[in-house]
Amino acid sequence: MKEPTLGNPQNTIAVLQKYNFVFQKKYGQNFLIDTHVLDKIIRAAEIGKEDCVLEIGPGIGTMTQYLSCAAKKVTAVEIDRALIPILEDTLDGYDNVKIINEDVLKVDLAKLAEEENDGKPFKVVANLPYYITTPIIMGLFEGHVPLRSITVMVQKEVADRMQTGPGTKEYGALSLAVQYYAKPYIVANVPPNCFMPRPKVGSAVIRLERYQEPPVKVEDERLMFRLIRASFNQRRKTLANGLKNSPELDLTREEIGSAIEALGRGASIRGEALTLEEFANLSNIVYNMKK
Ligand code: SAM
Repeated sequence: MKEPTLGNPQNTIAVLQKYNFVFQKKYGQNFLIDTHVLDKIIRAAEIGKEDCVLEIGPGIGTMTQYLSCAAKKVTAVEIDRALIPILEDTLDGYDNVKIINEDVLKVDLAKLAEEENDGKPFKVVANLPYYITTPIIMGLFEGHVPLRSITVMVQKEVADRMQTGPGTKEYGALSLAVQYYAKPYIVANVPPNCFMPRPKVGSAVIRLERYQEPPVKVEDERLMFRLIRASFNQRRKTLANGLKNSPELDLTREEIGSAIEALGRGASIRGEALTLEEFANLSNIVYNMKK
């Protein structure tokens, strides 16, 4: 197996110039040019020779080379057609890599796991395009894609939102959704100078370890997520008003009042004060009330 050749500024510039590559802002293209960061991501993802990796957005193939060396197999989905001939060049000789030229949001990833890994769980590793971080992560979880862990570079602020609990301004629907499916852990903060071109924001590598079973028991997941969305859509309002104003819920003031009382919280409580466990309890109370 070949050693990685990319990951530093000189070789990245050489590849970009050879192909006259023009960065597409709309695709969130910020390529990694720091070998220490790449090593850190591979270590945090705990990739072994038995693992099949799904990489989202391989770019010019920098991280793909590292993943290829560590894993049994790498399947990488890249939207930008202009990068495909470049990937064929930079990944020449990395024989366990398959490139798929598609929009990852349109790919049936559960089916891909079936085809590429006999339905066994992927490890997802990526330097994500920041403009679609949330739909990618939620699509992986809600689409029930078989996966063991997700180790990804995201905007620092988004990593904080995924990891935080009640009582902070970052806490919201994304925190609760991520923590329902996985255990988050911030691996490293990464400054803009580790990328080409430099992003305007700080970045962080976060690892999400998928739970076998969610940490709370919920009768109806969709109902719980509707309640969560309703609570955070109107952050400044009380939980009762947030639930009453939601177009996704059909609850009377009386039903909402008695559900919040059964939860053991006062009428003036705001949704942002509830833990995941309390949202699970609230949704089970509402579920039983409506049954
Ligand atoms: N992995 C490379 C690296 O670390 O140098 C590139 C990372 S760059 C932040 C994001 C990559 O995702 C780009 O190559 C971009 O073209 C690709 N991308 C953007 N939107 C995508 C989509 N919807 N589906 C698949 N790939 C996408």
